[in-house]
Amino acid sequence: MQKIALIGLGASGLFALKELANVEAELHIFDVGPSYEKRYACPIDQGKLTVCPPKACSYCAPGQSAGSWNDFKVILSASQVIGGRLYDLIGEVELQKRLDKVRETILTHAPVEIPIVKPNEEDLSWIKRKATLANMTYHYQELLHCGSDNAPAINTSILEDIKANSRNLVFHFDSKVLSLKVKSDGFEVVFDGYKKPGNTQNLNFDYCIVSVGRGGAHWLTQQDFYKNLDIHPGQVDIGLRVETSCYFTEEVDKRFYEPKLYYRSKHANDIVRNFCSNPKGFVTPENHRDYVLVNGHSKMYEKSENNNFAVLVSKTFTRPFKNPQQYSQTIAKLVNMLAGGGPLVQRLGDLRAGRRTKTLSNNLIKPSLEAECGDIALAFPHRILASIIEYLDALDKICPGVASDATLLYAPECKSYPDSITVTKNMETTIKNLYIIGDSSSWTRGVGQAATSGILAGEGIKQKLEVKPSIIPVNLHTKTQNLA
Ligand SMILES: Cc1cc2nc3c(=O)[nH]c(=O)nc-3n(C[C@H](O)[C@H](O)[C@H](O)COP(=O)(O)OP(=O)(O)OC[C@H]3O[C@@H](n4cnc5c(N)ncnc54)[C@H](O)[C@@H]3O)c2cc1C
Repeated sequence: MQKIALIGLGASGLFALKELANVEAELHIFDVGPSYEKRYACPIDQGKLTVCPPKACSYCAPGQSAGSWNDFKVILSASQVIGGRLYDLIGEVELQKRLDKVRETILTHAPVEIPIVKPNEEDLSWIKRKATLANMTYHYQELLHCGSDNAPAINTSILEDIKANSRNLVFHFDSKVLSLKVKSDGFEVVFDGYKKPGNTQNLNFDYCIVSVGRGGAHWLTQQDFYKNLDIHPGQVDIGLRVETSCYFTEEVDKRFYEPKLYYRSKHANDIVRNFCSNPKGFVTPENHRDYVLVNGHSKMYEKSENNNFAVLVSKTFTRPFKNPQQYSQTIAKLVNMLAGGGPLVQRLGDLRAGRRTKTLSNNLIKPSLEAECGDIALAFPHRILASIIEYLDALDKICPGVASDATLLYAPECKSYPDSITVTKNMETTIKNLYIIGDSSSWTRGVGQAATSGILAGEGIKQKLEVKPSIIPVNLHTKTQNLA
């Protein structure tokens, strides 16, 4: 029987698995994280911790499938600019078809009714007019906001359904894939226990799907075969998490939940965009072991009086510089150094005035994250901050109050994307039978398109298996191999 390795069971891996669950092949699933039912909610949210644990936890670390456990907003529209670049790979119609499949799966497994956020005609003409007057570009999107509190139930239910309908799955949770080797007759996966190492094993496969996310992107670059792929340097987004009053943004929140507004800065001609809005949500730390970023999330039931969202400046670099990730991480570490190890927070008024924030005790906006008050300008390039301030001034024309002195800015919020890997429409790389999907391929940047790329890879392998029917009958039963 043919053997398939799936490395990483995050947003993309889960949908690849769903697509492949019934094929006549033996499927081995490897993931650093614990099995889904053991993945826990954020200990800070639960009041068990006040700061992130020293090792990034499974809640928001990118190595552990963050977005489909944290906030879990799923962009459902086939867009050329939002959520990834699959539009360029497969076109609008094919992308929309797969996104509809993702939507249907999530809604089927949701424990409560999840509303689809979709602007109506009146909302669309409202935002188009407002955005144009503010010199911004609005990008249409429909989305599903599942919330951090519903995410465990949805993911676990999808996985349980896959298990119930399959006979040929072998799970290796709590297992880190140490290396993936390309051999003349397939692939060799070498893995070991993650929390309790010391039991290194290796298995051979005919097909391999790599779905290790952004957290596994560095690991991918360390594999011997990586240099044989067709790759192009990725992009970084450097920015801040903005926290303001939910009353300043309530009109757009009510109409759109998260309108995608892009702006080209006069100062540097850079593209500036908003990302990950959390009306009535909370700012959170995002612990990457070597450095701490900020992020935000919202919940279906518990609400704050604030809104938080990221404002990001996208940068790509040309020769001779080849390491955009290191650039953004260096900025993040500089901020952490000034803050004594975590994020910094500064009032917008203080940033404009060129002075550090010393206290927030009388500030109109009460912070939802306890961060060190300071001066972000000591760590961030002027070009980036000037573009962000311009963006907020433009947004203030749509959401009056957003650019007020009391608005809080948290740093660092940096997103780095892996190198872009050349793939076919089914995510197969230039190495035969090797599929790289999700954020580690750099074709996706969110749960919706990551899941879509998983479906595409699953479809591709299914087609290949169908033309090569297996001779030996399937007799393997689903079993979970837990190495921890
Ligand atoms: C805090 C945070 C919040 C986010 N919120 C959203 C959101 O609301 N909506 C949205 O669309 N996007 C969101 N994103 C982005 C989203 O998480 C990603 O786009 C999406 O998860 C990508 O899916 P993926 O399958 O490529 O990777 P992931 O979902 O990250 O999955 C990768 C998997 O691979 C495993 N892995 C990695 N390396 C190895 C290895 N060597 N061996 C074995 N297993 C390995 C990891 O444990 C993980 O389970 C968020 C990201 C972060 C960091």
